[in-house]
Formats: sequence, structure tokens, C-alpha cells
Amino acid sequence: VRAGSRSRPSNLSVCAAQNGKVNVLVVGSGGREHSLAWKLSQSPLCNHLFCAPGNPGTETEPKVTNVAVNVTKHKDVVQFCKEKDVGLVVVGPEVPLVAGLADDLQAAGVPTWGPSARAAALEGSKAFMKDVCRKYDIPTAAYEKFTDPARAKAFIKQLGAPIVVKASGLAAGKGVVVARTVEEAYQAVDDMLVRKVFGGAGDELVIEEFLDGEEVSFFALVDGEAAVPLVSAQDHKAVGDGDTGPNTGGMGAYSPAPAMNDTIHKQVMDEIIYRTARGMAAEGAPFRGTLFAGLMIKDGKAKLLEHNVRFGDPECQGLMALCASDLTDAMLAATRGRLGDVRLDWRPEAALTVVLAARGYPGEYPKGSVIRGLEGVTGAKVFHAGTARNAAGEVVSAGGRVLNVTALGADVAEAQAKAYAAVKQIQWADAYYRSDIGWRAVERLRAGKH
Ligand code: AMP
Repeated sequence: VRAGSRSRPSNLSVCAAQNGKVNVLVVGSGGREHSLAWKLSQSPLCNHLFCAPGNPGTETEPKVTNVAVNVTKHKDVVQFCKEKDVGLVVVGPEVPLVAGLADDLQAAGVPTWGPSARAAALEGSKAFMKDVCRKYDIPTAAYEKFTDPARAKAFIKQLGAPIVVKASGLAAGKGVVVARTVEEAYQAVDDMLVRKVFGGAGDELVIEEFLDGEEVSFFALVDGEAAVPLVSAQDHKAVGDGDTGPNTGGMGAYSPAPAMNDTIHKQVMDEIIYRTARGMAAEGAPFRGTLFAGLMIKDGKAKLLEHNVRFGDPECQGLMALCASDLTDAMLAATRGRLGDVRLDWRPEAALTVVLAARGYPGEYPKGSVIRGLEGVTGAKVFHAGTARNAAGEVVSAGGRVLNVTALGADVAEAQAKAYAAVKQIQWADAYYRSDIGWRAVERLRAGKH
């Protein structure tokens, strides 16, 4: 991403916030951050929105400017926020949160939506997350922690397969092996503890019981012991149609999740979200930010697979499209300790997002091929993820997951039809996308209707 390369200098000089309005900074460069910037900048309370570094999609949104601030240098981010009078920072990805960006911004008096490094350990350390579950009675898979390969294998032998082996640290979504056989689990132990394929992230393992069921992504805004649920989602991790092939960062998603109902929603809030919030407060590391609970649902009960400390990508894109309230207002209220006053309204429709990836992803893939037709897309919103501009100013591919096409519909079947109709309006020779995003929900809908 050529961050800031097409910034509009006139905007930069007239950005002092006035009349209760604030300047907003969104940290990140993916489709999630494009959708956050799109939604937050629509607020009448948003004076101007900066993206660090953003992407070619964010910079085409009204009121939005990309800036080339190095987000690994927290001092630079703080200085930028002071210079530009930023009144709200929203951090998209987990890595800067685990690195303590929110702590440094808060310490400098910059209101920030995103947890402290200690609270972000819920995602940064699966061992910590599981210990919180054990201590505060949060339903999750039975587990043990290991640093010694022989002990890990003895535990695997005792439990048998299927069994799940997880690198405790951040491994860009790749550190989980769902082993179908004991041998496969042993292999994962050797890969992580001996061969160090995930580096330090695999110094400690969590080995846990295999859970069967349907996966749902559940989101809540959390501040200390207050929590406001958002709309649920389901995503497709596998690269191929029918949920086959290797896992990716996510090939598509839809909201709300048909597997959720009021009873499960209440159980998740009571037993997972509030217990986590209270537990973290009791640990002296209160959580402030977006809590994303990955759930496994079976027989009407949810168990926690994992906590993430930020929005999901691509789930966020659909959530932003469905959110009928002023999210800037809600996040500002939350940073001022008033999350308890926040009510969020949601459109009554379904949202569905199709991810356009570069052919070959998640393996090797080409970069730099020109993408045309983006301006003319109707019936859906196109969020950019891995795009850049070439010397001629054209949008080109620059990553694995490149574009996200998000559509709303009266139900998931209509949202699916609209999203795919919009995908076909984009001309990009190297595109690969799944043709069946939402299939389970559409089947469920049809079964219910006939
Ligand atoms: P995690 O990053 O912990 O959510 O794991 C990534 C994926 O691995 C999840 O989305 C599930 O599909 C799968 N997974 C993780 N833990 C388990 C488990 N205990 N049982 C079955 N599948 C799991």
C-alpha cells in the first residue's frame, strides 16, 4: 500500500475538530479497516478521519485521508494524534494491541477504542485465555498447557484423537491444528515445540478436547463490566467451495448467524461475555474494546473456542453495513466511560460478504494485476483489502485477500445473490473467489421455507 501517496493536503490543513466533532484515526489497512473507516466517517460527529496506513479504498471515502504513520512506533502515532487533534483512535488488527498501542495512546490522553496489552493477552496468549476460562467458569473445551514435547504427547495418547493442538501465541490464524489422528497431533507438537515453525508463538502449547458443532462469531463492545452485543456472524475459513481445502484468513461471511437464537444469545452474554469482562476486571486488566468470541454451538449450548480482541475480518464488513446507529458516537461514549448508555440499532436485513482473493492464495499468488470496474459496481459495497495503485494510478492487486464485496438483502439468499451479481461487475483476471458463501444459511432458509 502506498500509504498517503494520494492524500489531499487541503484536508490536512483544515482538520481542527470543533463543535463537539472529533477527528478519528483508524489503524490498519485491510477490508476490516476500510469498513470501519466508511462507517465511522459517516457520523456527523466525525470531522475528519485518518487511516494509518489505509488502502486505495479508504482514501476514496469522503472525509478520509490515508497517512503514512508507522504504527509500530507508538511515539509517532501519539505525536500524530496530538498534531491532528485526534479525539478517537480505533485500532483494527490485534498485533498493535498486543504490542501495547492502546496503552501508549491512553497514557498520552488520546481516547482509544481497543484493549490494553494485558487485556489483549486474551488473544495474544491462548494459555492465558484458557486459564481465565478455568478460573471464571467460562464454558470451553477441556485443555492442558505444555512446553515439553514428551508430556504433550503423553497427554495426546491419553485423550486420543480427534484432538486440537494450538500454539499459544499469535500465529496469524495458522497456529491451530485440528488433528484427526494421534500421529497428526504428535507431528503438530514436534512442528511447534521442536521445529519452532511458529517461532516464539509456539513455545507453549494448549492441547484441548475436540468440539463438534456449528461455529459462530459473536461480537460485543466491552468496557470493564459493561457490554453491548453486536450482530453475530458466520465465516468461511476454507479456501474451496463446500468448505474444502486449506484454511485462509476468511473467504466470506454473513450476518446474522442463523445458528443463534435468543436462548443461546443470553447464555453467551451471561456465561462468556460478562464472565470474561468480570474476570479481566478482577485480574486487574479490565477489557475495553471489541470482544470477538469464537463459539462452537451444539445442542443449543455455546462453548468458547477462542477470544479475539478486535473485529473479525471479513465479519466486520457485514456488521458495519448492518449497523443503523452512529458508531462514532457509541465508541466515543464508550471511551468516556458511558458504554452503559449505548444502544445500537441494526437493520433488519442480512449481510453477506464475498472475498476476492488472488489466484493461488493461500499459497503463492501474483501481485500487481490491474482491477477494473470498481467505480461502477451497483447493489453492493466494495471494500478494499490488499490493493495498491500503480504508477498510472490504477488499482492493482497487492495481497492475498484483495477485495471484499458486501451486500444486504431481505434474507441471506437475497444478500448472496446481490453480492455475486456485484462480484461479476468487477474485471480482474487473477481473481479467485468461492461461489458458495452462505450456503449453509441458504440451505437452512430453504429447508425452513418449504
Ligand atoms: P482458534 O483460532 O482457536 O479459533 O482455532 C481456529 C479454528 O480451529 C476454529 O475456528 C475451529 O474451526 C478450530 N478449532 C479450534 N479449537 C477447536 C476445538 N476445541 N474443537 C474443534 N475445532 C476447533
